[in-house]
Amino acid sequence: MDTPVMPADKTGPKADTFSIQNIGIIGAGQMGNGIAHVAALAGYDVLVNDLSREAFDTAVAIIARNLDRQVSKEMISGSEKDTALSRIGFAEGFSRFAECDLVIEAATEDEATKRSIFTELSKHLKPDAIIATNTSSISVTRLAAVTDRPDRFIGMHFMNPVPLMELVELIRGIATEDDTFEVSRAFVHSLGKTTAVSEDFPAFIVNRILLPMINEAVYTLYEGVGTVESIDKAMKLGANHPMGPLELADFIGLDTCLSVMQVLYEGLADSKYRPCPLLVKYVEAGWLGRKTQRGFYDYRGDVPVPTR
Ligand code: NAD
Repeated sequence: MDTPVMPADKTGPKADTFSIQNIGIIGAGQMGNGIAHVAALAGYDVLVNDLSREAFDTAVAIIARNLDRQVSKEMISGSEKDTALSRIGFAEGFSRFAECDLVIEAATEDEATKRSIFTELSKHLKPDAIIATNTSSISVTRLAAVTDRPDRFIGMHFMNPVPLMELVELIRGIATEDDTFEVSRAFVHSLGKTTAVSEDFPAFIVNRILLPMINEAVYTLYEGVGTVESIDKAMKLGANHPMGPLELADFIGLDTCLSVMQVLYEGLADSKYRPCPLLVKYVEAGWLGRKTQRGFYDYRGDVPVPTR
């Protein structure tokens, strides 16, 4: 993955509202490690929690590799890489999050998982700490309601891969206070990223539009309209998309794609969002895309090979 340094923020954090230095991240998967990468490089101290120490170690190895690429492209110096890495530590459980000003949850896209995380997390935080969720689709208002601080809770939806993508969607829950919103926006800007504000409706803006397109591509495959190769080629060369929809689905993670479609289907009660049975089958097989080496493509060899 290429990881250029994002351009410096022009506006900068607002001095009167910006009080963030220590960041907590829950979930060390592809999003958690990307957020840790950009936050550490921007000068924040970062604690990362996951279910195991191994997940954290894997994340640090990925971050180190991505920082190395930036060094080799002369985007950052070797000492900036070392400093960034030294700012990232492991948190077993949530007790070390007591020192955090902002905790960003980037665990698996499953509402029950997130609810149990937030219930436990609230007990460990200082009163004014902000909780942000990186959920792709789940109601921010509903997640906020299980915490002790719906006013200090916000949706902060980073895009994948985090070091490369400029946008972060900010989603206010019904109770999110102005100060929470302003501090969160200043934090995102301090990472060199741009915000788009979305209302709290299922899947927000980007995934409300993107995921039904991916789901339709899976239906196109399911109904035999095209092969994996022809569907991706058609959208790359015919619609000028940088990645085909099935390649993109593998990149996002098919479990995440399915969860987002389920949230859209249930949240908007409209059959046009029904998840394609073939997407369900891939997830049931554990073929989740790149992260498990197999999805609509098989990534175990030198070049990806379509699985249908
Ligand atoms: P992932 O599967 O790569 O990583 C999820 C991580 O969460 C895993 O390391 C898992 O061990 C950990 N986890 C699960 N339960 C946990 C718990 N109880 N406590 C601590 N850690 C736990 O998934 P991802 O792609 O990084 O997605 C994470 C979140 O980011 C999801 O909410 C997803 O919707 C969102 N998101 C994903 C993308 C994308 O393109 N993949 C883009 C934007 C947002």
